[in-house]
Amino acid sequence: MIPYGRQSINEDDIRAVVNVLRSEFLTQGPAVPAFEKAVAAFCGAENAVVVANATAALHLACLALDLGPGDELWTSPNTFVASANCARYAGAAVDFVDIDPLTLNMDPKELRRKLELRLRTGKALPKVVVPVHFAGQPCDMAAIGALAKEFRFSIIEDASHAVGAHYGGKPVGACVYSDLTIFSFHPVKIVTSGEGGMILTNHSALARRLERLRSHGITRDPALMTEATHGSWYYQQLELGFNYRLPDILAALGHSQFLRLPEMIQRRHEIAARYDRELADLPLQLPSKEPDTVSALHLYVVQLEKTTSAERHRRIFECLREAGIGVNLHYIPVHLQPYYWNLGFREGDFPKAEAYYRRAISLPIYYGLSEADQSRVIAALRKVLT
Ligand SMILES: *Cc1c(COP(=O)(O)O)cnc(C)c1O
Repeated sequence: MIPYGRQSINEDDIRAVVNVLRSEFLTQGPAVPAFEKAVAAFCGAENAVVVANATAALHLACLALDLGPGDELWTSPNTFVASANCARYAGAAVDFVDIDPLTLNMDPKELRRKLELRLRTGKALPKVVVPVHFAGQPCDMAAIGALAKEFRFSIIEDASHAVGAHYGGKPVGACVYSDLTIFSFHPVKIVTSGEGGMILTNHSALARRLERLRSHGITRDPALMTEATHGSWYYQQLELGFNYRLPDILAALGHSQFLRLPEMIQRRHEIAARYDRELADLPLQLPSKEPDTVSALHLYVVQLEKTTSAERHRRIFECLREAGIGVNLHYIPVHLQPYYWNLGFREGDFPKAEAYYRRAISLPIYYGLSEADQSRVIAALRKVLT
């Protein structure tokens, strides 16, 4: 089976991990700050805080913004469940903003409409909005950032798909329009640390809080303590934190992989360009390209014709799987998950995300996808569609 995504590990990556295994620290050593510094420098962000995974990153980002009971977080229904679940961990409510059918990202016009409706009906506005750069294509951050100023909410960019993407000439992670940006280093994403996540921010106070929350809410900084230190062993727990640390073993892998980011992105663009060319004559909607952005191309999603029945969508998907093509579907709209149904969401609530779901198929795209395997994908798709 040709998978839809796969990590690429080279000898440098292996050497980086082995070096840590031979060193003094397996966790809480020098590899974590080195990785953080490299990512912050690349993105042009002032701070980077690495954590166990992107789900933990989203959770801590919510806590750092003081999201809690009585508050609301809004995100896109076309995402992985973690983008919404983070609000629930913090005890806050979730709502969604429907997508733009072209970009497949949260639609800023829909966001404005929903914000104005809330204001008109005297209902609460969201405290946090989480735009998700679906498939690696950056959202319209200037528009969402302008709404954040007008309606006074904070922004966490879920850039799990968009490590290495650019928006307005700057890397995603620069946090030009957001308070925080989170990355995922899961093996199907652009670069991997096995498991891992990172939070970028230009607010140093938020970064210090995130570092504390990552490690039990504990500080060793006497300036933050409620009383004079008892001695050099002394620490204080200031609030309820977690063990969300990334081990040095994984930070070394992530750092080594991160140095390969430009070639990873370039290869994804070559693969996408070939799909663009060789699928152009088929009855498919191919990924859109937005001006002034560079996608990280985490996913390459094609959409069947609007009139396609659920039955035919499923048959095409299964035929491709049977032909050894590991197609996938990103995403089942989050609000249709039983957990969110139980919170009151229903089919029809976000019709554009639902319509997209009925037509979407993610094709294989990853650094190590060979020309021959891509030819097999294209041939199989051509056969099943004609
Ligand atoms: C993968 C992913 C996450 C979660 O990442 P983990 O590192 O696996 O926790 C969150 N949001 C989106 C959009 C993702 O694709």
